[in-house]
Amino acid sequence: MNDSENRISRRTAIKGAAVSGVGLIVGSAMAEQSSTQAGAPPEAMMGPNDEWFAQRAWSVSANKVLPKADGTTTAVTTLARRIEHPTSAEEIAAIVKSLPATTPIACVCGGHESSGAALVANRDAVILDLGALKSIEFESADDGTLVTVGSGVVFRELVEAVKAHGGALPVGTGPGVGVVGYALNGGLSSYFSRRLGLLGQRAVRMTVVTANGETRVLTPKDELFTAMLGAGSALAIVVDITFRMANASVVKGAEQLVFGFEKRAQAVEFSRKSMQFMKDRVMPNDSVSLEIVVTGTKALVATTVFYDTFTGITAEFVKPLVELAASMKLPTLARAEWTSWYQAAAALWPVIAEQKGQPLATSYHCAGTTATPTDAVLDFVGDVVVGEAPLDEAEMSIVEIRTLGGAIAQGPRIPTGNCDHAFFVDLVTLFDAGAKSAAQRREIVALTNRVIDKCRAVPDLGVDFSGTHSQPDDVDRSAVAAEIFGSAEMARMIAAQKKKMDPDNRFRFNPFAKFVG
Ligand SMILES: Cc1cc2nc3c(=O)[nH]c(=O)nc-3n(C[C@H](O)[C@H](O)[C@H](O)COP(=O)(O)OP(=O)(O)OC[C@H]3O[C@@H](n4cnc5c(N)ncnc54)[C@H](O)[C@@H]3O)c2cc1C
Repeated sequence: MNDSENRISRRTAIKGAAVSGVGLIVGSAMAEQSSTQAGAPPEAMMGPNDEWFAQRAWSVSANKVLPKADGTTTAVTTLARRIEHPTSAEEIAAIVKSLPATTPIACVCGGHESSGAALVANRDAVILDLGALKSIEFESADDGTLVTVGSGVVFRELVEAVKAHGGALPVGTGPGVGVVGYALNGGLSSYFSRRLGLLGQRAVRMTVVTANGETRVLTPKDELFTAMLGAGSALAIVVDITFRMANASVVKGAEQLVFGFEKRAQAVEFSRKSMQFMKDRVMPNDSVSLEIVVTGTKALVATTVFYDTFTGITAEFVKPLVELAASMKLPTLARAEWTSWYQAAAALWPVIAEQKGQPLATSYHCAGTTATPTDAVLDFVGDVVVGEAPLDEAEMSIVEIRTLGGAIAQGPRIPTGNCDHAFFVDLVTLFDAGAKSAAQRREIVALTNRVIDKCRAVPDLGVDFSGTHSQPDDVDRSAVAAEIFGSAEMARMIAAQKKKMDPDNRFRFNPFAKFVG
């Protein structure tokens, strides 16, 4: 799959604007199209900023495609006055030094962050598109192999390179997700983190350019190093990060079961019972992880990953899930066995390639528990998150229910709530804005908000604690700093680093700006 196919192309941006009423750009200025109906595409020219945005933004925030009170929508594009494409630390430092000390700077790596804060930026800003920093270098160290990843590298590139070196890392599922953008916002790997920790927990070195243009190499001894692994885009520009690689043999294999459902009640029942299996059989056993996904396309996907410490028979382990589906008379749509880290790491690439829109609109929200979830929490997740998520209204949406904990809980503390959670649910609301009317888009966002508001009312359920799985551009309903950064102490540490490293708040386009600015 060509990753550029995943993006909002110039053609789809124009077509999408025509069909959906999502704002369209005329020339290089931001203009608003108030068309809310399908019709002939308007005559329009895209300026360089708009071309760039169409290429680099994987999606736009669902909040940004909502109509205003007068029924019009605001254009979604970058507002920055300049976009630079540096190719080295020296060039980044030179750009930073050449700008007035108050000029805001935004960094873009893979372009997948759901609020799009850095992609959109503002009219005073200079964007650093770091996509040209593609180096991936391996080196031997006393405790194994290290890999240094440039800040333009995306997961497809890293996974292929790591495979060639017989290694494994807790990578994210999206082939085009930026490795640095993921690590700086608390990224988690549903398949691998229970054995390998969070990717940020495997970081051992980092090269950054500071707000005054100084290039520094950070190690875990530096407080800034830790702060970067959760709030990085608010503090400095990352040139590269070095990670401690694991051996490919840490993953023994995986079993993926895909069942179909017709009625939402079946999805609720399957998820409730399979979560009980997760609680009883998977969570007490660090040699296994389980992810249950409920999709708007009416599939139930249960992926069990077995690590090197697993001693049983994999098919036997997942038998209760097979029996559960059979007892509910759910059809088996597919069954796959993966025998390597690479197969699991690359498994979702073709699925993600199908997620396209004109433009694609999204929001990310998560909830979870720090300890084994109570039955009341599991019932709630089944009845409300699975039962009421806008899966019919926004058909590309998914609910993902995952085990965390394991190696994450034992690894170094970094500023993300992911470190503390054992059980994780996320609601990815995803739809083609071009195919939805203004009223439908409003309804999808309202249904999402309703589910998340209900989550907030449940005792023991943390909400929006994951930097990569929360929607910071929600108006008046976003996460709090102590949750998203893992603790009040971490949030204070980040605020102190912000004051020290970026007193003029140049790096203000990070998703958590309101917490640290
Ligand atoms: C299809 C898909 C699959 C995903 N899968 C997962 C998953 O499995 N697990 C998970 O946890 N998350 C996942 N995510 C969420 C994803 O990890 C986050 O959105 C991540 O922040 C995206 O990083 P990016 O580099 O692609 O985006 P960008 O928008 O380029 O960057 C994200 C943020 O990091 C900052 N940043 C990027 N590079 C630098 C730099 N060099 N220096 C300073 N700041 C920088 C940006 O300013 C921005 O604030 C997924 C998202 C999508 C769309």
